[in-house]
Formats: sequence, C-alpha cells, structure tokens
Amino acid sequence: MALFIPEFNLQPLNTLAAPVTAAWYMAVNSETALLEGLSFAAEKNLPLLVLGGGSNLVLAERFEGLVLHMQTKGVWLLNESEEHVILKVAAGETWHDFVMHSLNEGFYGVENLALIPGSVGAAPIQNIGAYGVEVKDVIEEVHAIEVASRMAITFPHSACQFTYRDSFFKQAGIDRYIITHVVFRLNKQAKPNLSYPELAKQFSQFPVSSNAVADAVIKLRQTKLPAPDEIPNVGSFFKNPILNHEEFAKLQALHPSVPCYPQANGEIKIAAGWLIDQAGWKGRELGTARVHDKQALVLTNPQRDRAQAVIALANAISQDVHKRFGVLLEIEPRVYSFERRD
Ligand code: FAD
Ligand code: NAP
Repeated sequence: MALFIPEFNLQPLNTLAAPVTAAWYMAVNSETALLEGLSFAAEKNLPLLVLGGGSNLVLAERFEGLVLHMQTKGVWLLNESEEHVILKVAAGETWHDFVMHSLNEGFYGVENLALIPGSVGAAPIQNIGAYGVEVKDVIEEVHAIEVASRMAITFPHSACQFTYRDSFFKQAGIDRYIITHVVFRLNKQAKPNLSYPELAKQFSQFPVSSNAVADAVIKLRQTKLPAPDEIPNVGSFFKNPILNHEEFAKLQALHPSVPCYPQANGEIKIAAGWLIDQAGWKGRELGTARVHDKQALVLTNPQRDRAQAVIALANAISQDVHKRFGVLLEIEPRVYSFERRD
C-alpha cells in the first residue's frame, strides 16, 4: 500500500536546498507504487513532479501537486558477448553508484561520468556529459511509463533524440513519460577516453586503466566543484552556447581568445564559464546567491535561501553576457515555477 505524505518539506531533496513544500509526496519503490501514484494524482487532479536526486532542478515555489520520488533499485544483466554487456538499471539507482558498480564488475564506458550527482533515471533526460563522454554513447534503450495512458513504452536509442545536454524527454516528451529503467551497453575491454586536456595531462603514458580515469575525474571534480551538501548548487547553471559559423566569426573577431570547440555538424561550442568569468562575475554575490570562485558556471545558494535569489543572479549574468558578447545563455536545470490551481 503506497504512502502519500501531505505537506512534505523538499529542502533536503534538492541540491540547491531551496526551502519549498509539496502538497503531496510519495517515495516510489516499485512500478506498482508508481501506478498507484498516478491513480492518486488523477483522482485528485494533481500535477506531478518526478524527482530523482534533485540536482538539476530549481524549485521556485510551493508545489501544489504530487512529488513522485524515484527510489526503485536493481541492476540486471540482460545479455553478454565477448565484447559487451547489456545492463538494465532501475531509475532510482544513484548514478555514481552505478558507475562504481560497473567498474568493479569490469564493465567500461561510464568512467568519465563518475561523481555526477543524481539518479540513473534522470541521466537520459539531459544526456548527462562530462570529460568528453555523454551518456548517449552507452544507452541502448529507455523504458518509461506514459503518464496519460499508464502504459509501458520502450524508447530505442534513436527515439531518444539525444543532443548536447538535451533529449526528447526534455523537449517534446517533457512531463509525458516517467523513466523506469535505462538499458546500457558497456564494454568489457577498457577504452579510456582522454580527450579532455585535464585528463590527458595526468596520463602521459599508456596503458591507462579505466579505474585510474575514474579516480582522476573524481579528484578533479572534488577540487573544482562545490559539494552540494556543503555549498548548495545544481552544477552548471548554463549550457555552453553552440554558435553557427557566422555568429562565431563575429564573436571571435572581437574576442580572439574565446575558448571554442568545433562540433561534428560544423557548429562551434563556446565555454559559457569563460564568458561569465570575463564579464567579472566569478566569486561575485547578488543578494544571498553567489558565483562559485573556481567555476563561474556554477551558481550557489550558501545560505539555503529561496531559489529566487539564484534566479535573479542568473538573470543579471545573462543580461550582462548578452550585452558584452551578444551571446544568449540558456539555463540548464529545469526551473519549476508553479501557479496555484483554482
Ligand atoms: P532531478 O534533479 O531530480 O530531475 C531533473 C529533471 O529530470 C526534472 O525535471 C525531473 O522531473 C526529471 N526526472 C528525474 N528523474 C526522472 C524520471 N525517472 N523520469 C522522468 N523524469 C525524471 N550534469 C551533467 O550533465 N554533467 C555533469 O558533469 C554534471 N555535474 C554536476 C555537478 C554538480 C555538483 C551538480 C549539483 C549537478 C551536476 N550535473 C551534471 C547536473 C545533474 O547532476 C544531472 O543533470 C543529473 O542527471 C540530474 O539527476 P537527478 O536525479 O538529480 O535529477
Ligand atoms: P573544463 O574542463 O574547465 O572545460 C571548460 C569547458 O570547455 C567545458 O564546459 C567543456 O565543455 C569545454 N571543453 C574543454 N575541453 C574540451 C574538449 N577537449 N572538447 C570539447 N569541449 C571541451 O570544464 P569543467 O568545468 O572543469 O567541467 C569538466 C567536465 O564536467 C565538463 O565536461 C563539464 O561539462 C562537466 N560538468 C558539468 C556540470 C553540469 O552541471 N552540467 C557540472 C560540472 C562539470 P563541456 O561542458 O561540453 O564538456
């Protein structure tokens, strides 16, 4: 029997530590519980908020609906060949635990994504990425429940429409599906990816083990990023802008040192952190919100204040960057601003 808890405090469940209450909360430990949650919400005409680790959302106001907190667990070996394993993983598993579990089993491909906070179920939503690897590189399928029909649906890789920090689930599929499992194809042979300079610098000679890559990623992240339980944050607040050739040429003519990374389709990714840093925002405060001193892309909420302070800081930064560089910054986490329903 599912337990629906009224007036639930979400502050400990979002890494920005925004003090927000939900009208209803439910810990989802099974698919049956998830279906019960959907029936409860439908009966009471409640909006839904699917919650994983709360590390990529900004809760701006009280939520007058039902929070479905994904807590399902399990890793299943579906298939194995000489080269690969196919693993099905429950949405509520912690992403970093899955990375470490895979390495311990001798399964490779996700080591560069070590220490990314959050759940396995949220990983496909924005196609999480770090140090030259994106989760799309190892996803075979995504299993979900369609909210409207309560039917189980399998999305093959091609239907997920993965792009840079984006997917079908963050675009046309938003709020329509609840991801229950993700199916991964991992390698049995280690193929370390050292394409990022900070990793390449650390490993001057081969062979490099995937465990060593994961250790290096963990250390780099611990040095550069604020641990959310100490200094609340949601990681990068903005995506790196991707410009077409003409837009980039204009920017580079005025700012020749702008860090740029050509994409496979001919567009050019530029480092948003560099733009924010050049505009003088690194380490600055506005109200109770602060730009992290080691990485200008990360906005923090050190006083665990309402999310409005961080949103105001983000707006001030976006406007300034646009004025100085003519580049529009897009917010990466999902901002929830809820209207009270009649
Ligand atoms: P949540 O914040 O709980 O949810 C995010 C969104 O996904 C919400 O809209 C939610 O409704 C939806 N959602 C969650 N689970 C499901 C589900 N099962 N079904 C349907 N919808 C769902 N991201 C990167 O890409 N790369 C990084 O290197 C990285 N580093 C980070 C470092 C720090 C310190 C922090 C705080 C964040 C970082 N992030 C990074 C962002 C974040 O960790 C990822 O986006 C992560 O995948 C979010 O997972 P979550 O479970 O916390 O999602
Ligand atoms: P970094 O190594 O200082 O690099 C700065 C930016 O330049 C990054 O955003 C990265 O883009 C880009 N970059 C660097 N080398 C690149 C290369 N060889 N090819 C293509 N792009 C390159 O970045 P960082 O802040 O320390 O973060 C390290 C990694 O962790 C990055 O991949 C970053 O995305 C990831 N991270 C993400 C979040 C989040 O919340 N989304 C938070 C923390 C860290 P990309 O961002 O596209 O990789």
